[in-house]
Amino acid sequence: RNSAEKFQFQAEVSRLMDIIINSLYSNKDIFLRELISNASDALDKIRFLSLTDKEILGEGDNTKLEIEIKLDKEKKILSIRDRGIGMTKEDLIKNLGTIAKSGTSAFVEKMQTSGDLNLIGQFGVGFYSVYLVADYVEVISKHNEDKQYVWESKADGAFAISEDTWNEPLGRGTEIKLHLRDEAGEYLEEGKLKELVKKYSEFINFPIYLWATKEVDVEVPADEDDSSEEEESSESSSSEEEEDAEKGEDEDAEKKPKTKTVKEKTSEWELLNDVKAIWLRSPKEVTEEEYTKFYHSLAKDFSEDKPLAWSHFTAEGDVEFKAVLFVPPKAPNDLYESYYNSKKSNLKLYVRRVFISDEFDELLPKYLNFLMGLVDSDTLPLNVSREMLQQHSSLKTIKKKLIRKALDMIRRIAEEDPDEANDKDKKEVETSSDDDEKKGQYAKFWNEFGKSIKLGIIEDATNRNRLAKLLRVETTKSDGKLTSLDQYISRMKAGQKDIFYITGTSKEQLEKSPFLERLKKKNFEVIFFTDPVDEYLMQYLMDYEDKKFQNVSKEGLKLGKDSKDKELKESFKELTKWWKGALSTDNVDDVKISNRLAETPCVVVTSKYGWSANMERIMQSQTL
Ligand code: ADP
Ligand code: MG
Repeated sequence: RNSAEKFQFQAEVSRLMDIIINSLYSNKDIFLRELISNASDALDKIRFLSLTDKEILGEGDNTKLEIEIKLDKEKKILSIRDRGIGMTKEDLIKNLGTIAKSGTSAFVEKMQTSGDLNLIGQFGVGFYSVYLVADYVEVISKHNEDKQYVWESKADGAFAISEDTWNEPLGRGTEIKLHLRDEAGEYLEEGKLKELVKKYSEFINFPIYLWATKEVDVEVPADEDDSSEEEESSESSSSEEEEDAEKGEDEDAEKKPKTKTVKEKTSEWELLNDVKAIWLRSPKEVTEEEYTKFYHSLAKDFSEDKPLAWSHFTAEGDVEFKAVLFVPPKAPNDLYESYYNSKKSNLKLYVRRVFISDEFDELLPKYLNFLMGLVDSDTLPLNVSREMLQQHSSLKTIKKKLIRKALDMIRRIAEEDPDEANDKDKKEVETSSDDDEKKGQYAKFWNEFGKSIKLGIIEDATNRNRLAKLLRVETTKSDGKLTSLDQYISRMKAGQKDIFYITGTSKEQLEKSPFLERLKKKNFEVIFFTDPVDEYLMQYLMDYEDKKFQNVSKEGLKLGKDSKDKELKESFKELTKWWKGALSTDNVDDVKISNRLAETPCVVVTSKYGWSANMERIMQSQTL
């Protein structure tokens, strides 16, 4: 086409497309899921805008918020069309090729190591999966504020954009035409597409239609000349029932004109999904498998991994909402990398079934950003801007309840995990078939998200105690396993008042510490804190269940009274005095007789409010 403007793909996008085209990845099906997901996003956008501007939807077919799939077997074209927001010419240029999203290079990198294309949607480059099955793609799009344009590319490093003067006007929205490769012929079969929509797009909240052929019975006048032989051969598949029916007709032959039933092929829109919002159903009616699939569709994670836990509930009272929360099976790579500057929450906000946003940070505190899920509120107003909504007073209440429910859900992972039970409890717990599945789940949770719990203790004073209950640590007695503070307390020696801990770089290093000598000898249990974040954690976690935390390398360690204490103090009085003078107050605050050591003759202790040696080290390296 002469009027077409040519553009080069941005370099990373071009590389990505090469990888996709040459991929040996066998699961090519995923392209359909990505296209439907984009169509659904575009529909969400126009529906959201229509809340404050009714005109925007237009009239007639334009108001139909749906997705339509059509096949052209002869030309080998599969098209997917939506009546969503559409793209202007500028959108087409930017979104489909010239501006690489941050996920592009991350995904290219990942492809080179793992080759698992299944995650493409998570990286924000799902559209390009069309080149798994097509060698030529056209994107026809009409946005309310622009003319209709066609974007096209054969994935040869360039794409073209032309004003559309030859296709049927779309009204509004986008139609993607995939010119399928020879080996992708299966995507021209209706059965295959129905199966894929079922499998991948079950939770799309807009109707998905397929222009499907259907055989219908039609009554036509029976031609007298028709020999019955011919009739039978032309309807070789006719069933006995039909033969019976024909017999019946024969009996009435004198009253009615003779007719016969023939099969005819017609096409009509067939609805492929039932648009049910899973969160509106009663939790009792939703199966485990459905929750798992729902999680996969939310997370754009189509692995086999089950979420570690979920919570589906309705909140009533002043603020009404329904919510489903999930603990993912794995933490994303960058969860903590960008912790302090990322704004990303993984919660979708709906108001009365209408998708509003997935970038609402007011719904969950940062430390719970690892959760996936959605909130659908009837209390929030529909016809206000996102900015207004962000300041709505109900959000505080929603947030508070979500945190509570989230922490309950995490606590339940521990409660249901047979590995977590105290020795005391173990005898009481009956083993059930569930046990195998729940076994070790909390340790898994802790490995993936333990740091989030620690950050929560630091940041969320209101829920500090609840979060501390979820904390897991290794100790001098935990034998390489994780233990909770409750378990620690249950093992405390008679007369032990404080919870003892020590901080450092590794357990191995700490085990040799002179600070532990005496405690070990006296059979006290000491917690090892070896993560840099632990130093900060312990500045906020002062006590738990009325027990104070005592750093054993700091001043103030009390291991119970020793009758010789006074005597010793007296007899070494001169020595300590001399020593203090020799070191001068610039170097030490005090020199004292101590009962914390067993073999080592002396040790440098940090003052109660000073930084531990480990903290000094961390501050010097400035790592968190
Ligand atoms: P993502 O959906 O994660 O943003 P994609 O690669 O799937 O990434 O899509 C890229 C962008 O192209 C989308 O963000 C959107 O702006 C645009 N886009 C794709 N398909 C459509 C569509 N059917 N309607 C409107 N915009 C679309
Ligand atoms: Mg997408």
